[in-house]
Amino acid sequence: MNISPELLFHYPWLPSLEEFYSDVSDPVEFLKKFHFKFQLSDYESRILNLFRSAFENLEEINDFIADELNAYLYVFVKILVYIFDNKRIANRIANLYSKQSYKELLNDNEDANLYDICRDLNLNVRYGDSVKFKEVFDKGQKEILETRFSIEFQEYLNLSIYLRDDNRKLCHKALVDGYVYLEKREVKRLLQEFVRRKFMIEDVDDKNALEKLKKEFFKFEEFKSIYDNILNEWELKKEEFEYSVDIHFEEGKEFQGLFPPCIKEIMTKAEEGQNLTHIERLYLVFFLHALNFPNETIIDVFKGLPDFDRKKTEYQVEFAKKKGYTPHSCNTLKSLNLCMAAKYEDPLCLKGYMSKKYNEQRSIKHPLFYVQYHQFKRSMMKNKQRISNKKENESN
Ligand code: SF4
Repeated sequence: MNISPELLFHYPWLPSLEEFYSDVSDPVEFLKKFHFKFQLSDYESRILNLFRSAFENLEEINDFIADELNAYLYVFVKILVYIFDNKRIANRIANLYSKQSYKELLNDNEDANLYDICRDLNLNVRYGDSVKFKEVFDKGQKEILETRFSIEFQEYLNLSIYLRDDNRKLCHKALVDGYVYLEKREVKRLLQEFVRRKFMIEDVDDKNALEKLKKEFFKFEEFKSIYDNILNEWELKKEEFEYSVDIHFEEGKEFQGLFPPCIKEIMTKAEEGQNLTHIERLYLVFFLHALNFPNETIIDVFKGLPDFDRKKTEYQVEFAKKKGYTPHSCNTLKSLNLCMAAKYEDPLCLKGYMSKKYNEQRSIKHPLFYVQYHQFKRSMMKNKQRISNKKENESN
């Protein structure tokens, strides 16, 4: 391998990664190896946090660790992005990875590392004696820029084409013997853009290959649950949000009227003492956790069930909270036959809502959106009522 493993663990997008996986011939092989090598507890929270950070448009990966697993996660995330086949998700991940890499590069002051990275990428880069290559004036102060790095101009053009700032243009650069002098920060900025493009996806032409890989991926139960969770979070995120209202539990607040039919149905069954399937229990617990219901309140929902065991339920509710999963999306619930829109003849679930933001009728994608929407409507009604009461008082 051309570079040290430590550097590769930091920057797994480097070409030397191929040598690192020289014993793995294709993505299916990789998935098997990954599954064999790591426990779910090793990687689950890191993958979910990574996607959450991307969906939140954060500047960095929350629990980033430059270890061997990081190199594996990079490939795993690439496979996930491929099978999601969703450009918006791919862009979010691309942005996050590129920002994280830029941050790592800025924190790394070793010229040798930067040079090794460029060489590994097969960039035509020169490293020599420090050269004073430019004078700049900032608020009347003169600054002389120095560097040891220069890059062949054609290579510079290829890399800088996606940068937006005006300063990237060749006419603003010091060009000597076909090489462009760049400060280290500028080289790192070029690399950031390179990383971003590594995650960009084109429309997948070969849908059969995609479906085949997806099928292989889903053979591992743990991977499937990670995939579902990320998709649930994404469905919720997509609805963000012209109806942004705090939907968290408050003591004494009436929630039942805000619950969607799929939840009402499960809660009614629980109240009537009917048994619930495993998936109904899970969905209900994830849903109530998402609204920050206290554990005790959630446990009490189950107390009428024929097989109720407080100790076991306590453990399961606690466990689900630690997992921090987002409740299932409407699509998932429909595929599980848990959508009760038709039975309850619910207008929002059946017909959707008029989106002011998109100026079109949109269908509801996530049950938490249902709560947010109704809570928003409720608060609007309250406001209207308050204003009309005020006017009435003033006129009396
Ligand atoms: S449309 Fe969504 S929120 Fe409404 S009942 Fe079906 S799954 Fe639940």
